Amino acid sequence: MVLTPITYFDVRSQKQCATNKKLVAEKPYARFFQDDMQVPLAMAKALQHGQMPRAQTLTPSLADIKTFLSDPRRFPDAGYAVLEGPTAYVQTRHEMPGVTSEMFKWWFLWHPIEKQRYMLWFPYAHVENYVEDPRRLADESLSYEQRLYHNPNTIGEYIGPSTLNAILHFSDPTELGCDATTLKRAGFTASASAWSAPCAAPDITFTLMLHLGREADNGLELFNRYWIGAHPELKRFPGGEKAPSFLKKMGLDQTGIENIAYEMAVHDMTEFSHLASVLPRIYGQFGPAC
Ligand code: ZN
Repeated sequence: MVLTPITYFDVRSQKQCATNKKLVAEKPYARFFQDDMQVPLAMAKALQHGQMPRAQTLTPSLADIKTFLSDPRRFPDAGYAVLEGPTAYVQTRHEMPGVTSEMFKWWFLWHPIEKQRYMLWFPYAHVENYVEDPRRLADESLSYEQRLYHNPNTIGEYIGPSTLNAILHFSDPTELGCDATTLKRAGFTASASAWSAPCAAPDITFTLMLHLGREADNGLELFNRYWIGAHPELKRFPGGEKAPSFLKKMGLDQTGIENIAYEMAVHDMTEFSHLASVLPRIYGQFGPAC
């Protein structure tokens, strides 16, 4: 896999990186704060020429999610588009060498305990992170599902020039529309998937995101899908029917959504590539066996 450094960070992100570096400095994991970020060259190039063809996109309908799960590799490794709603759509496939399902799941239990841990993941863009019940999240007597699911996770981060303040509701993928048999058949062994609402309107679902991982030859193969906006299929989540009026209120038109789709794709590419580069070592030092 050929990597290329990210060479553009806007001024606000540069300042946030400097702030984050200071906040992490006193923590025992400070040496894992690495602001040299690299991404797969092929993925960066795939995102540089506009929207992907509509025929290669998926809606968040149960039928389309099943189609995706039936043959996840059938779809391009990276792309973005604007769908009905309007809805920003992003799809990526990450190869994470040296990462296991266990490490990936552990990350989602470990990082929201302190916002500084979240900053390790994307030093330029991650600002805030906490869960409603941190004791439950940290309770090692419970399962991954018991700790993470239905434990609302508030995040603050930069998505390009936008700021996203949202509440993520991590849930079992079957609650989000994934068919259990198809998931199993595809070999998925890790999920950190959620529906989410903006902090400004916590009763309105405006995003569905799937992070589904399975073990491959040299590490985790992670498939990510995001639908951000007012897709009619999001009506099956709490307050999804109110998303169109929320979008209007926010002044998000077709162009605004198109920009969010691209910026979200770049954000995803950057943070998951970076996570792959640091997670095995963080886990090695702070993971459950340590
Ligand atoms: Zn992020």
